Formats: sequence, C-alpha cells, structure tokens
Amino acid sequence: MNDVMNLDRDVVPEGRNYIGGVFQQAGDGEVIGVYDPARDAELTTIPRSKAADVDQAAAAAKAAFEGPWGRTTVAERADLLDAIADEIEREIDDFALLESLDNGKPFSLARSVDIPRVISNFRFFAGAVRHQETGAHPMDGDAINYTLRRPVGVFGLITPWNLPLYLLSWKVAPALAMGNTLVAKPSEVTPLTAMKLAEVMHKVGVPAGVFNLVHGYGHEVGQAMVAHPDIKGISFTGGTATGHRVAATAAPMFKKLSLELGGKNPTIVFEDCDFDETVKGVARAAFANQGQICLCGSRIFVQREIYERFKTALVEEVNKRVPGNPQDPATNFGALVSQAHLAKVESYIDLAKKEGGVILCGGERPEMHGEFAKGAFLKPTLIDGLAYDSRTATEEIFGPVATIHPFDTPEDAVEMANAVRYGLAGSVWTQDIKTGHRVAAALESGMVWVNTWLLRDLRVPFGGMKDSGVGREGGRFSLEFYSESRNVCVKL
Ligand code: NAD
Repeated sequence: MNDVMNLDRDVVPEGRNYIGGVFQQAGDGEVIGVYDPARDAELTTIPRSKAADVDQAAAAAKAAFEGPWGRTTVAERADLLDAIADEIEREIDDFALLESLDNGKPFSLARSVDIPRVISNFRFFAGAVRHQETGAHPMDGDAINYTLRRPVGVFGLITPWNLPLYLLSWKVAPALAMGNTLVAKPSEVTPLTAMKLAEVMHKVGVPAGVFNLVHGYGHEVGQAMVAHPDIKGISFTGGTATGHRVAATAAPMFKKLSLELGGKNPTIVFEDCDFDETVKGVARAAFANQGQICLCGSRIFVQREIYERFKTALVEEVNKRVPGNPQDPATNFGALVSQAHLAKVESYIDLAKKEGGVILCGGERPEMHGEFAKGAFLKPTLIDGLAYDSRTATEEIFGPVATIHPFDTPEDAVEMANAVRYGLAGSVWTQDIKTGHRVAAALESGMVWVNTWLLRDLRVPFGGMKDSGVGREGGRFSLEFYSESRNVCVKL
C-alpha cells in the first residue's frame, strides 16, 4: 500500500488509440490533456481523434467481424473473457491506482469496488454465455419454432467518467461474449483504464480489430460513431441531454440502441426503519464516489415523526467523510472529477441558497494543502428547507450534494419521490414488509432497493424509465441486446 501512496507514475500510460491491433495516435496528431483532479496536474495526453479515425476503427471492426472472429465458438469467446479477467486481476493495483488518479476517487474504493467489479463483469458474462438458453415454441405437433441468437456486427460503446472501467466492461463483456466486434470510446475526462484494458486485450490475444479504442471528444468521436453506417448498434451511458442527441442520430438509421442516462434518485425513510443502519445506508447512498454515481440517492425523504432526530444523526454520519489524498488508503472521500464539474456542483449550492435552502453541513471547499491546494475538492453537503419540487431538489447535480425533506404518509412520499423527470433508482427504508413492497412498486424507477442500496446481482435488469433511459442491460437482457434473435419455424 505504501508504494501506492508514493505514486508510481510509470503506471500512467501514454494515451493512444488501439485500432486493428495497433496502438497509434490520431490521424492528424492532435491531443487532449488528461488531468489528475486532486492535484490539478496533467497526467498524460490522449489522441483527439476525428471522424477519419472512427472510419478506420469501424473498418477494422467490420473486417474482424467478417473474418475468423465471426466463426469463433461460444466456448472460445468465454475462455477469452476469462483470460481478460485473469490478467486484470493480476494487475489490479495498477488498474485501481490509474482509476483513482484519473477520476479523483479514493484508491480504496477503486481497489475494493470498481476494479473487482470489472473482473466479475468479464467472468459473469463468460459464464452467462456458456449457459445461455434460447426459446422453443412447439405448435401442437404441427410445427416447432426455435430461436437463434446471432451477433449484430460492429457495436459502438460510449461511456461516462464516473465509473470509467466498471461501466465500459459492463458493455464490452456481453458484446464480445455474443460475438460482436467493438469500437469503444471512453470519456475524454477519464480515459486511462480503458487504455490499459486495450493493452490487456492485446496481451491475451484478442484478435486484431475485435476491440478498437478511439479516444476523443463526444461531439467529434462519439457523434461520428453514432452516425457511422457500419456501426450497427450503440450502447450509451451518459447524461440525458447527450442521450437525446445520440437517439436523434441513431433512430433514423434503425440502430440497436441502449441508453443509460441521468438520475435524481429518491431515498425514502419511514419512522419504523432500523435507525442506525438506515443512517449509514442513506449517507452511503448519497455520497459514495463523491455522489457521482447515477444511482446515488440525492433526494432524501424522511417521515416527520423522526425527521429532526434523523437529520442530526445523518449530519454526524456525513461529516465522517473527510476529503483527502485519494491515493492514501485511509481516505474515504476523494476529489470531484474535474474543476469544471466542481464549478457546476457549486453553482447548485448557490442556487439552493437562493431557493431558501439551509446548509446543514458542507457547502464549501475544504482547506487543502501542498499539492492538493488547488484540487477539485468539496465537502459533502446536506441541504434542508427546500421545496421537494425546487430546482435543486429535482435537477441532476451528480456531486456530493443531497437535499432532505419531511413527509407524512406513504402516499405523500411516493408523490414527492415521483415528481421528477428521471426514473432510474430509489431506496426505501422500513421494517414493515408491506410498506416496503408497496412503496417500491409505486416508485417510477427502473430499480428499487429496500433496506439497502447498490446491492447488485448481475443477472437482474439494469436501466431506467422516464428520462433516465431506454432499454435494460444485465444478465440475459444484455445477451439479448447484443444479439439479433431469429425465429425459425419448421413444419412437422
Ligand atoms: P456525458 O453525456 O457528457 O458524456 C458521456 C459520454 O458521451 C462521453 O464519452 C462523451 O464524450 C460522450 N458524448 C458527448 N457528446 C456526445 C455526442 N454528441 N455523441 C456521442 N457521444 C457523446 O456524461 P458524463 O458527464 O460523462 O457522465 C455523467 C452522466 O452520466 C450523468 O448524467 C449520469 O447520471 C450519467 N450516468 C448514467 C448511468 C446509468 O447507468 N444510467 C451510469 C453512469 C452515469
């Protein structure tokens, strides 16, 4: 661990595209700086690719799909996914350090959650594809239908900065398992672990052109991928406004499309909850990864009977999160992803004050010293006194800022919780099993947890409703999305 604290910067790779099995710069040689947000220091550069680089990657992916890769067996592809997982596991400390440097998240979080999840994504989809079943529909002895599942072709994968490799692997693993070839574009803000994944792909012998990585800006590389005629499907995770643009470009081309978008998730606490467990769970739901998880519960509704007591306990729990050096294993609260994002989050704290909010804790930058003096740090912030339908309480902030509101009845809680354009996730905290089930079912959310948060089973459908997205990924939902189902009807 001490090595990690001493920061072996050799671990930071030179950012390059990976196209047709070759590491290379952008065609025109332009680059983008990549920053460590905790130190406000440049780490390295990545290529600022353009449409011509996407053309090259799409051509490599198409040729690979039409070549021997298209004839690989399920067993061969599953073995390859396991080999990728094994290699990442061997290099887990370097992966976790890179993720922490690039994103500002605590090394301890990347080492215990992000990278282990990457490994399990590859292993899980290796197992899922080995064991997948397809349907048969007999017609009373006259005929039998059966379903074949075939790869789609070239898939474009576009991912955000908050869980960089975790979310990319969630797409890469099932897409490769089903036999597609890929053009991937990680966020230009956090591209480094994707870069290292390309090195792993190369090392374990993924055939040239099967996995291509193109770095660059969304409006240049991402847009060119979505518009490319040879890229037959797009899996996008990012903001709702970007998802809108992606859908507008892809829909007229009838591409397969999965959109995992923004959220503003409710946490509902009933007076009969297990008080101490709930305080800890609610704080974690609001502030894990500095509140930069799409599933974070940033609108906290607490039944009036326990409102004051809960608020006091929650502030105490939140204040245990102390911003510090993300690479120090003892740090439990890191930096935000960038200066630009910090400015956006702070603008919402200003808005909250204008809307009449009372800052219960945080609301300002911590005093940081030495190399961290200019880092993108913000104290975890809890705000009381706002209307549940105020802008602060309904717009996605995507940072360490949560609002807290009292409610009286379960019906009130559901109405307040649903009063947003988003519908990604939520959590309900109660010891009454009936209340738990009823409120969970009434929430307009793709995913609801009862008495827990972010407990993930990779088999379940993952995705949002309303403006939080279209489609579901996870388990068989991913295998279906990354393939074309074809029915064959045989007359007997
Ligand atoms: P973003 O929408 O700005 O960027 C996401 C990705 O899209 C990046 O790789 C970006 O370069 C690319 N992009 C930007 N413009 C594009 C365009 N015109 N065409 C194609 N690609 C384009 O999002 P972000 O700021 O990186 O991430 C934060 C957002 O992601 C939040 O809204 C968060 O809720 C959401 N998110 C959702 C989920 C989910 O599963 N629903 C998970 C994580 C993050």
